[in-house]
Amino acid sequence: MESQAQNSEAVIDIRQVSTRFGDHVVHSGIDLEVRRAEIFAVIGGSGSGKSTLLREMILLQRPNEGSIRVLGVDLQSLGDEEALALRQRWGVMFQHGGLFGSLTVMENVGLPLREHTALGDRLIDEIAASKLAMTGLKPEVGAQYPSELSGGMMKRASLARALALDPELLFLDEPTAGLDPDSAAGVDELVLKLRDLFGLTIVMITHDLDLLWQVADRVAVLADGKVQGVGSMSELSRMDKPAIRQFFDGPRGRAAQQQDRLHAGLPESETIGEPSSKPK
Ligand code: ADP
Ligand code: MG
Repeated sequence: MESQAQNSEAVIDIRQVSTRFGDHVVHSGIDLEVRRAEIFAVIGGSGSGKSTLLREMILLQRPNEGSIRVLGVDLQSLGDEEALALRQRWGVMFQHGGLFGSLTVMENVGLPLREHTALGDRLIDEIAASKLAMTGLKPEVGAQYPSELSGGMMKRASLARALALDPELLFLDEPTAGLDPDSAAGVDELVLKLRDLFGLTIVMITHDLDLLWQVADRVAVLADGKVQGVGSMSELSRMDKPAIRQFFDGPRGRAAQQQDRLHAGLPESETIGEPSSKPK
């Protein structure tokens, strides 16, 4: 099964990407490939360039060098029309949800459909309701405002909105950050369900070791501007590089590894601390 994927099949193909902010080098020669229908995670210390890389994948930022292809489209040479079309083929769940406080949950979820389709209000509400159901929210949540939701419900509502246009590709920034263990475990299941039922390709940034062990097919470790390693969590856990070891050594890393081996009942949500990776 491994490594049969050719580049043409890659849903995301990142080649030799370098990014600088002034003198500060964030990425120097990043190569990554995300395959269809895989759950791919990016981990790394605070400031290692995870969010910047995500922003580059969703056209919010451009690298200084290198190329990024998403769904077969080269992001470098993209006109406005093509960019608009491409943006509709992916969904993004931002870390803090990004829901509009002045709109109900239903209106928030329907917003991409109002912006990008000519569908009527009734149909939009029906689609929005089905997306809410898909993420495990009760129909009555649709009439609520974001300020009335718990953290877990907010993540689900934000995910429902990311799914509004039936994307092929989903980006999740810290999908379980700030959630209690039960809600976080619910997100694990939801992510797996979306991939298994709809064949979505999922790219996520996370520090949640449980989420990584339970759902990520492959994980890339970013440090010092480079990809230090890519593999399944158990492959990474056997690598010797210090930049990789720091995620597995220490009490929390060991606890999550142990938990994975034992397949213990309901997982507690362990998180990797963000070791600082300041430039030397
Ligand atoms: P991570 O998500 O891994 O914590 P980021 O991608 O947010 O890291 O940031 C990587 C580095 O780039 C950090 O040192 C950050 O301060 C810097 N950085 C990010 N965005 C900008 C920006 N727009 N201007 C200047 N520096 C930035
Ligand atoms: Mg970040």
